[in-house]
Amino acid sequence: MPAIVSKYRRILIFLWFTALLLTGLSWWHVARLISESHTREISNAQRDLSNLTRVSQEHANRTFRAVDQVIRFIQSRYLEIGNKIDLTELTRKGVIDAELFPQVGIIDANGMYILANLPIPTPMDLSDREHFKVHVAADTGELFVSKPVLGRASGKWSIQLTRRITRANGEFAGVVVVSIAVDYFTRFYGELQLGSRGMAALYGLDGVARVRRVGDNDEFGTIPSDSYALAAINRGETMGSFTNRSLVDGIERLYSYRKIPGYNLFVIDAQDIKYVLASHQRSKEALLLQASMVSLLIVALAAALTRYLIQLRRAMYNRQRAQKQIEERNEQLNAIFELSPDAFVSFDSEKRVTYINPAFRSMTGQGTDVLHGCNELEISEWLIERCAPNLAFSGIAALHAKVTQGTLDHREVFELEKPVKRVLEVGLRVSSSRAVSQILYLRDITRENEVEHLKSEFLATAAHELRTPMASILGYSEVLLHAEFDEPTRHEMLDTIYSQSTLMANILNELLDLARIEARRSKDFRYTLVHMQELLTEVIKGLPLPAQRTAPELDLPAQPLYLMADSGKLRQALINVLSNAYKYSPKGGTVLIRAWVNEQSDQTCMVCIEITDHGIGLTPEQLQRVFERFYRADTSGKVLGTGLGMSIVKEIIDLHHGEIHLESTPGKGTCVQICLPAYTTLRNDNSVNVPLESIQDTRPGDFS
Ligand code: ATP
Ligand code: MG
Repeated sequence: MPAIVSKYRRILIFLWFTALLLTGLSWWHVARLISESHTREISNAQRDLSNLTRVSQEHANRTFRAVDQVIRFIQSRYLEIGNKIDLTELTRKGVIDAELFPQVGIIDANGMYILANLPIPTPMDLSDREHFKVHVAADTGELFVSKPVLGRASGKWSIQLTRRITRANGEFAGVVVVSIAVDYFTRFYGELQLGSRGMAALYGLDGVARVRRVGDNDEFGTIPSDSYALAAINRGETMGSFTNRSLVDGIERLYSYRKIPGYNLFVIDAQDIKYVLASHQRSKEALLLQASMVSLLIVALAAALTRYLIQLRRAMYNRQRAQKQIEERNEQLNAIFELSPDAFVSFDSEKRVTYINPAFRSMTGQGTDVLHGCNELEISEWLIERCAPNLAFSGIAALHAKVTQGTLDHREVFELEKPVKRVLEVGLRVSSSRAVSQILYLRDITRENEVEHLKSEFLATAAHELRTPMASILGYSEVLLHAEFDEPTRHEMLDTIYSQSTLMANILNELLDLARIEARRSKDFRYTLVHMQELLTEVIKGLPLPAQRTAPELDLPAQPLYLMADSGKLRQALINVLSNAYKYSPKGGTVLIRAWVNEQSDQTCMVCIEITDHGIGLTPEQLQRVFERFYRADTSGKVLGTGLGMSIVKEIIDLHHGEIHLESTPGKGTCVQICLPAYTTLRNDNSVNVPLESIQDTRPGDFS
């Protein structure tokens, strides 16, 4: 799962990186287009404005030259004819262009306005006017262009163009003055189409505006010109352009200026930057809108892809999880079927074998591979072939018939002969699943069968063993009840009844002992530290010696032998073995009891006890059956016994995790060897246990 997560995370990172890159690229491209468009528009506007300024310059230049020509003409005529000059006549003849020059006049040396093309209502003293005073002060030889003034004669705003009249002797004779109405220029500027917030002006190099039009308004008076243009002209740059924000109205404009050659004047035109960049602004907005749309589209696309990928990842994750669950479930089922001790054969929808588990192979032997793909009949025949004829499998069809009839227990038991004898229980389960139509299952009940068999055999034997003494008791007691006998006969009969009753009681006691030991499986054993030599002494003392028999010989080590055991049960086992040694050596003979410690190969120590007699002994066949319940090798009837003693010994020794081993030779005697785990955690300081280094294998050689 983490692999999927990191893979999808990488894809998502790549996706968003690409989306951001594309967005960045589109914005970069748009920014470049906008910048190019801005530069282009500004450059075009500068060029156009420069052309307009050239036109303004040309207009002013021509005007001033035309005016200067008229002034020079009047100047020379005045010097020639004095006051006889008729300016009105000159105007009428068209020498003086009345449209261009609303008023042309002469101010005499005293500053009196003496002659004009228009009638002068009262003599006017203009000696205080700058355009007069400037010529009184010095003969500059230049045309003077005044600041706009409100004409006393015309009553209109005009600029005064004056030239000094100097007589041949250098005497100041007056001033020729031409008034040009300010609106002559502003009208012209209005036609320049500089935009609603454009500006056109004529400035003197003194920094005073002679004429100025801003938008639709004419402005007169002393308005400081932009210092930038003035400074540039003073530096010798007679033309140029620049952008500046107006201190008056705060509007940023593109300016273009040109000095008028030969005059201390320059023209300056300006356009509102917003007006200049209006189309650029529109295309800029369109481009920004496009870029925004593209960005939105990219982001939306990336978001949709992200959502799709997340859904895909979730679906993939769920599918993998489901697959993993299926795999785990399959593994579990496989493990169950592989490890099951019961055999399974599954069939597909066409009732052909698809799966056989290992238990089936181990039950029925090699060659099961050929069964894959077989139908019901073929596998039935294959099984029947391996069956014992008397208890053969009836076939899957028969099982089917029972299932469809609804027989509660349709299972059947059959016996296999090959590869080994086995009793199997077989059943059939019909499935509604598409892949599996039915399952044939087999259970190995060989052991159960044997146990059942042994149980019934045991019950039969036990009943038989009890019936024999019971028959004697019943018979003798009945005879005693119904007939009179002399005392010795009666005594003999009662003696038989007593001995048979004792035998019955023994059988029942030993059966009960055996049943208890088996049922509790050592749970009620009370383990204590047992001193083996002491226990053996107790056993010998506790078991009465038969008549004419000498006490057993003892061969015990000096060191005490300890083991953890239930001393009561162990005593019982040893008594059973010792009593057999007494019972089955009727001619007497030495009974030898030995004990020693035996170190095993795996470093564990065993305490071994050996009881050897020189009695009747047992054949190898008899020896094999000694531990069978009710088995008695000696059937002479001379020695009483139940045939359960050695079975009890075996159970007790097994439950103590010990071993019992018998060796016997018929007519020579029997040796019973019992080995039990030694108690070795206590060392032999103060004679608690046998020191390991002193352990010697003191086993006697083979008895025979
Ligand atoms: P019980 O011990 O219950 O009184 P039992 O002695 O017949 O009866 P086991 O002790 O189980 O039964 O022994 C089974 C049989 O094994 C005996 O009947 C006997 O034939 C044979 N047997 C056991 N011990 C010896 C022995 N030391 N020598 C020869 N035969 C023996
Ligand atoms: Mg016995």
